[in-house]
Amino acid sequence: MSANLKTDIQYLSGVGPKRADLLRKELQIRCFEDLLYYFPYKYVDRSKFYTIREINSSLPYIQIKGCITNFETVGYRRNKRLVANFTDDTGTIELVWFRGVQWIKDSLKTGKEYVVFGKPGIFNNRINIIHPEVEAQETLKSKINAPLQSFYNTSETLKRSYLNSKAIQKLQNNLLQQVKGKIRETMPSYMINELKLLSLDESLLNIHFPNNPTILKKAEFRLKFEELFYIQLNLLKQKKTRSKELTGHIFSTVGSNFNTFYHKHLPFKLTSAQKRVLKEIRQDTGSGKHMNRLLQGDVGCGKTLVALMSMLIGLDNGFQSCMMAPTEILAKQHFQTLTRMLEKMEIQIALLTGSTKQSERKVIFNNLKEGTLNILVGTHALIEKAVKFHNLGLVIIDEQHRFGVAQRAKLWEKNTQPPHILVMTATPIPRTLAMTLYGDLEISVIDELPPGRKPVITAHYYDSKRLRLFGFLRKQIKKGQQIIIVYPLIRESEKMDYKDLEDGYEGIVREFPPPEYAVSVVHGRMKTEEKDIAMTCFVKGQTHIMVATTVIEIGVDIPNASVMVIESAERFGLSQLHQLRGRVGRGADQSYCLLMSSTKLTHEARKRIETMVETNDGFEIAEVDLKLRGPGDLEGTQQSGIAFSLKIANLGKDGQILQYARDRAEEIIEKDPDLIKPDNSILVSQLKKLRRENTNWSSIS
Ligand code: ADP
Ligand code: MG
Repeated sequence: MSANLKTDIQYLSGVGPKRADLLRKELQIRCFEDLLYYFPYKYVDRSKFYTIREINSSLPYIQIKGCITNFETVGYRRNKRLVANFTDDTGTIELVWFRGVQWIKDSLKTGKEYVVFGKPGIFNNRINIIHPEVEAQETLKSKINAPLQSFYNTSETLKRSYLNSKAIQKLQNNLLQQVKGKIRETMPSYMINELKLLSLDESLLNIHFPNNPTILKKAEFRLKFEELFYIQLNLLKQKKTRSKELTGHIFSTVGSNFNTFYHKHLPFKLTSAQKRVLKEIRQDTGSGKHMNRLLQGDVGCGKTLVALMSMLIGLDNGFQSCMMAPTEILAKQHFQTLTRMLEKMEIQIALLTGSTKQSERKVIFNNLKEGTLNILVGTHALIEKAVKFHNLGLVIIDEQHRFGVAQRAKLWEKNTQPPHILVMTATPIPRTLAMTLYGDLEISVIDELPPGRKPVITAHYYDSKRLRLFGFLRKQIKKGQQIIIVYPLIRESEKMDYKDLEDGYEGIVREFPPPEYAVSVVHGRMKTEEKDIAMTCFVKGQTHIMVATTVIEIGVDIPNASVMVIESAERFGLSQLHQLRGRVGRGADQSYCLLMSSTKLTHEARKRIETMVETNDGFEIAEVDLKLRGPGDLEGTQQSGIAFSLKIANLGKDGQILQYARDRAEEIIEKDPDLIKPDNSILVSQLKKLRRENTNWSSIS
């Protein structure tokens, strides 16, 4: 009989209602299964014993055998502590407790042999261990024998209730004693055999109580593989189902709108990457399948043009399109770009944002419904119920990471048959992450910048070199260049940041005084109109320098600016730095990105700055970012949740396992698309279970 892993955690020996409550609240552990899948974050080798003479305070952990000779209570009030002298044949050290003193005193006996484990420290020139683990020899023997000790994350609240890592390990021990040998397998037996996987039972036992490093590796592999495999299987299955069930609008012809634009109005030659992506989009939209495509391409690579030309194909086939941007400024800019590029053609374009006037809205809604409006550009105002299309065929979503999945889903409902979807992002996503987050989307990449662009030169300056910076800026201004100076804005301390910006602005005006120089300032506290005015002044070249917080939006084009100074660069994330740098380097002149920082840099901040100086490649930067931060913090992953909910695999480190899992999942779907073979029944039931438990799974697309 297999164990019921859904049993409420309170019924585990050593838990009870009170602890169950804590485990639920603090660690979301509700049942046996949740605890089993609460994995250690590290292991410490406990097969090694030290003698007291060998110990020094630089060792991370030590384990010794010996006896307590006597107890003393020393110090007053807050410093009051229990000290035990612990000795073996080679010397004596102090064991120290600040809490639980009475209990410790009652439960430990002098003269008895104990095993002591902990982190050695130094106090008054003597080696001590604060809050060591002390166990009698015989109790050690009654446990699952595991020379590698696992450590579990807990919370302050849990620790206060004596649910520390050690206590969790004890609970795991109780649980595994009870269910070991009775855990139902979750992978088909042919996979276990062919891929030489450890059984689930063995894997769970060894992940918590590894017998040796080799078996720990095998257990980790099996659990990581399984986790990633089911995500991939789910994505591939969904993709298969969708391509079977959803037929897409067919854009069968490339007609006069596209051709006229291409031959008469295109202001430059398409890059070969743009051509390739357009071809991919044509293949999708012309085939009768429903397009769901992610277009990745670094800032400035020309995604907007690809979007525009795709919309023209839609129009050639009688369909309307819409283009959605995350902010008003961006939407406006797209609207202006499209209007300008299409001004010689008879194409109706409108802009809809939160600030569109009621009277204008009426006209837009009417024309949209009638079908006389061809392209609608806007912010999330586009997904309002009132927005009804005559025949929506294509939706373009720019800078997708700011849109939630639910918002995207609403766009689908704007036609009886869902429109084709093209999601564009300038935040490159590492391959492993893309495979997981968008595994059911087709992916296109523009990996080429339009010709003539010079790569931005990036340099790092410490704040003490500011005078040199000013000298350089003056030279650039003399050459007719414009400069953007960005200050960080972190929500928690908006006031302080604002102060930074104000001080910075005053400093800049002192260095670059009127009438010779003109400086604009843009920040989050200004009204939209004020911001617009300041931005416009700068864009028109009326001011030399723009001092701004990060309100200079991703995507906003300021072609004349060739120098970007980023203040307190150590406070920005990598992808943000890269986005900011993308604001310059649009024109033909050499551009610069200057990263200012203090000399006090954390290891990670230094790595971020070094990476920026070394490379301009957004994909490379994204890979480093993933390694530094882990997937949970990367932009683009938040709305998906999947990257968060991984229990053991790490997308930054387990790329190879992920690829392996993806390949295996593909093989299976290839051979048995509907998973109807009896051998695969376990896959079906497991997928069902995982979908039920993980709401994120069904909502991506
Ligand atoms: P992004 O991919 O960041 O959205 P844009 O679409 O805004 O980039 O393009 C950046 C700039 O490059 C725009 O000014 C655009 O007109 C220009 N551009 C786009 N494609 C080409 C091309 N093939 N040749 C030259 N310039 C181009
Ligand atoms: Mg863009």
